[in-house]
Amino acid sequence: HLDPMSDAAIAASVTPEPIEAVGARLGIPADALYRYGPHKAKLSLDYIKGLEDKPAGKLILVTAISPTPAGEGKTTTTIGLGDALNRIGAKTAVCLREPSLGPCFGAKGGATGGGHSQIVPMQDINLHFTGDLHAIGAAHNLLSALIDNHIYWGNALDIDVRRIAWKRVVDLNDRALRSIVVGLGGAANGFPREDGFDITVASEVMAIFCLSRTLEELEERLSRMVVAQTRGKAIVRAEALKGIGSMVALLRDAFQPNLVQTMEHTPAFVHGGPFANIAHGCNSVIATRSALRLADYVVTEAGFGADLGAEKFLDIKCRQAGLAPNVAVVVATVRALKMHGGVGLKELVNEDVAAVKQGAANLRRHVENMQKFGVPVVVALNRFLSDTPAEVEAVRGVLSDLGVNVHVCSHWADGGKGAEELAHEVKNLAEKPSAFHPLYSDDLRLSAKIETIAREIYRAGEVVFTPEATRRLAELEAQGFGHLPVCMAKTQYSFSADPKLRNAPSGHVLPVREVRLSAGAGFVVALTGDVMTMPGLPSVPAAEHIFVDADGVIGGLS
Ligand code: ADP
Ligand code: MG
Repeated sequence: HLDPMSDAAIAASVTPEPIEAVGARLGIPADALYRYGPHKAKLSLDYIKGLEDKPAGKLILVTAISPTPAGEGKTTTTIGLGDALNRIGAKTAVCLREPSLGPCFGAKGGATGGGHSQIVPMQDINLHFTGDLHAIGAAHNLLSALIDNHIYWGNALDIDVRRIAWKRVVDLNDRALRSIVVGLGGAANGFPREDGFDITVASEVMAIFCLSRTLEELEERLSRMVVAQTRGKAIVRAEALKGIGSMVALLRDAFQPNLVQTMEHTPAFVHGGPFANIAHGCNSVIATRSALRLADYVVTEAGFGADLGAEKFLDIKCRQAGLAPNVAVVVATVRALKMHGGVGLKELVNEDVAAVKQGAANLRRHVENMQKFGVPVVVALNRFLSDTPAEVEAVRGVLSDLGVNVHVCSHWADGGKGAEELAHEVKNLAEKPSAFHPLYSDDLRLSAKIETIAREIYRAGEVVFTPEATRRLAELEAQGFGHLPVCMAKTQYSFSADPKLRNAPSGHVLPVREVRLSAGAGFVVALTGDVMTMPGLPSVPAAEHIFVDADGVIGGLS
C-alpha cells in the first residue's frame, strides 16, 4: 500500500474538482474542453483562436540556482506560488512541462511537484497523460520510416545514407539504443546503415510543437527541418519526404493544451516538454499564450538552472513567441547552497553558516544574470525542515546590496499558504513596467552570440571552438541561418562546461565542440562537452519501486 508520507498519498488526500469547474475559474465554457476522464481535458483550438484579441496577463518565470543532488524544487515552487497568488485574490494559472517516462523510471522520478504543492492526478500526468508524447513519437518515427522507404524505392533525392541526421525516438531511457544498425537481413529489408534512438523529448518535433503558435506554423516549421544531406552535400528538408500532412494529422489533437489542477484547484496547463539541453526546455507557447489570455497571472517554469533554462526561455521562447516576462523568481535551498559551498550530501543536516555564505555566490550570480535581461527578480528560499534561522539570514545578507528580497517559502509542507509572502511581492513587482530585452540581437554573428552568453552569463574567460565547429558556423551563416538564436547545450551542474566545478567559477574556458542546426525549431545548437540525447538508467532505477496496489492505485511515483 501507499506510504502515507509519499507524494502519491498526499495527493490522494484531496478531492479534485471536476475539470469543468477548474476551467470555469478562468471563464472557459464546458464545451471548449475535451475531457479525458473527470480530471483532465484539452482546450479546443477553435476556442483558443477566439482568445487572440484578449489582453495578456502578467508572466512570471520560475527558475533556479545551479542544480545539486540536494534538490531545488522549481516545479514545486511554481505550483506553490500559483496557489498562493490565487489565495491572495489574483486570478492565476500555472504552465508546466509534461513529464517524460525516461526520468519517471530513471533517477529523477516524476515531475508533478511534491508535498502539498502538486498537480493532480499525479499518476496520470506522470505516465501516459493524454498521449501527447506518444503522438510526438509517432510523428517523428513516421518521418524516419519515410526516409528509409524513400531510399528503398530508389532514392530519387540521392540521400547520402551516411549523412542522415534524423534518428528514431522512444520515450524511455534506454542506452542500448543509442547507436544501432538498421536495414539488416537482406535486400527486402532495405539498405543497412548506422542509426540510433533519442528520447522523444529530444526530438526536434517536440521543440517545434512547443514553439508553434498555430497548426499552420507547426506545419511550416516541420517542413523546414533539415533531415539529411545528399551525396553532393545539399541539404534535404523534411518536406521532400512528403509526409508533413500526416505528421500534422498525428499531432493535431496533441497540439491542444492540457488542463489539470493543483491540489488547491489552481488551473494548470501542462503541455509539451522539450529537453533542456538539445532544446529550450519550456512548456508550449500555445499553452503559455492561451493561459495569459485567460488568467491575470501565469506562473511558468524553465528547466535546469537559470544559466541554461532561463537564458533559453528568454532568448529563444520569449524572442520567438513575442512574450515578455514581468518577474523572475529564482529558487534556492539552503541545502543546495551548502553543497555549492563545499559541504557533502551526508553533512547537509548540520548547520554551516559559513558554507551557506560561500555557496550563495552561485545564487548571487544567477540573480545578477536575470537582472541583465531587465526583469525584476525575487528569491524564493524553498524551506527544508533542517534549515536554521542563521543560515536563512546568511542568504539575505549575501543579496542585500542587489536590491533583491528573499522570501522563505514553506509551500512543500503547507501548500499555497506557505508562499503568500512571496506571492504579494511577485504581484507588486509585476506592476512595475517590464524592461525585458533579450541578451543579444538577431543580427550578431553566431559565434558572437555564443561568446556573449559565455561572457555575460557563464562568466567564461574564453570560448574555444573546434575547427569543425568553426567550419560549421561559417557554413550555417553562408546558408542563411546566421540570424537564428543559439541554444546552448552545457552541463546544468556548473556555470562552466565541467560538471564538477560548483558554485561561481569565472575565467574558465568554454569549449564548443560541435554545432547542430534545428532549422524547424529555429535555433542553432552549440554543444559544449558531452550531451546526452538518449539517457541511460541508473543502477537502481525508479522503475524498481513503482507498483499497483490491491485497490488499483499506482504507488511509488514521486
Ligand atoms: P525541480 O523542478 O527543480 O527539478 P521539483 O520541484 O520537481 O524540482 O522537486 C524535486 C524533488 O524535491 C521532489 O521530489 C520534491 O518533492 C522535493 N522537494 C521540493 N521541495 C522540497 C522541500 N521544501 N522539502 C522537501 N522536499 C522537497
Ligand atoms: Mg521541474
